[in-house]
Amino acid sequence: MTTSPPAAVGTVPPAQRPGVAWTPLTGAAHRIAVAVLLDGPLPRSELARRFDLSAGSLTRLSRPLLDSGMLVETTGVYDATSGRPTRPLDVDETSHHFVGVKLTATTAHAVLTTLRARVVAAEEALLLDTSPAGVAATVAALVRSLAAHADRGSGGGPVRAVGVSLGGRVGERGTVRSARYLGWDGVPLGEPLEDLLGLPVVVDNDLLSLTRAEQWFGAARGCDHFAVLTIGEGVGYGLVVHDEVVDAPDAGVGLLGHFPLDPTGPLCPQGHAGCADGLLTIGAVTSRAAVGLRREVRYEEVLDLAVEGDPVARRVVDDAARGLGRLTAAVGNLTMPRKVILSGDGIRLAEVGRAALLEQVAADRNPHASELVIDVQRTGFREWARGAAITAIRTFVLGTRA
Ligand SMILES: [Zn+2]
Repeated sequence: MTTSPPAAVGTVPPAQRPGVAWTPLTGAAHRIAVAVLLDGPLPRSELARRFDLSAGSLTRLSRPLLDSGMLVETTGVYDATSGRPTRPLDVDETSHHFVGVKLTATTAHAVLTTLRARVVAAEEALLLDTSPAGVAATVAALVRSLAAHADRGSGGGPVRAVGVSLGGRVGERGTVRSARYLGWDGVPLGEPLEDLLGLPVVVDNDLLSLTRAEQWFGAARGCDHFAVLTIGEGVGYGLVVHDEVVDAPDAGVGLLGHFPLDPTGPLCPQGHAGCADGLLTIGAVTSRAAVGLRREVRYEEVLDLAVEGDPVARRVVDDAARGLGRLTAAVGNLTMPRKVILSGDGIRLAEVGRAALLEQVAADRNPHASELVIDVQRTGFREWARGAAITAIRTFVLGTRA
């Protein structure tokens, strides 16, 4: 797996320089450290093969990483390649912790993770005050509470960085350029939080965070070309090409939301007939079901009713699932990924409407095209928050946001 070049930050162990990047070196040593983080424990022979290094070069490059505590040697195992006992290299994932916070219109969902993005604690808080200062205070309180949890852990390291994600456009230095759900426009969030916490804070679009999370520690590990489609309050889309997340200032606008899916479908708030937003969001599905059932109904209830065989709910779910199938096939046809990950807090629709979804994908794909791998991932707010933590981990490890 390739990574962006890290910032040069010297060779002082991270324990002595809180807040700086985890990898203190560039070049081969950096690639070794990242490979061990993502795929470790790894035998030295595997690392030497992967990076085309002699055993001597690998020893020379890994020695400072071991001396600084960044990498550790695991207990000895038999190495089938060399035929000799070996001590694979690994990281002590609890030596550093991270907090990820996902902001919605009403709630801040936060998780504490290890260096390998394993969630060790979670908390949430209602956003009673959605002013920038109010949200920053709520986020800071969550981070402090989770950091105290990390400190109480048995021998674990402190929180090194914080990631905050939200649905919206994010600019330089953690400024939220627009976040419709919070009514924000040009709001500095990262720097005020850094001042409050004394920790590095990375603010990111939530979909980009989730995409980066799938790439490093999720369903797309080892896959250098994939797409992520999410459904929930809106429709989200992320793309990785040549192992790089496609990032752009418009990434937070929800460009795929108005993609046309069904010309006879319901109107979205902007007046498009049967666009993705008008057909696939939780609000779109519940309002269509409410009309058919002649009563208010919750999203999970619509899905439960469809499972139980209610004809109205089944029709609404299958219509939406066909729309999701059309969108999935369009993403596959236009960007040719190896895999499309379907997720988001509304993604149970893809399970309940699986047959309709797959039927539409097949109808919209060229029969001679290779099979499109579709991976449905149940994603709750905890996974979104974990995505934000992974953005912080990546920044810590690489010294850059990407
Ligand atoms: Zn629309």
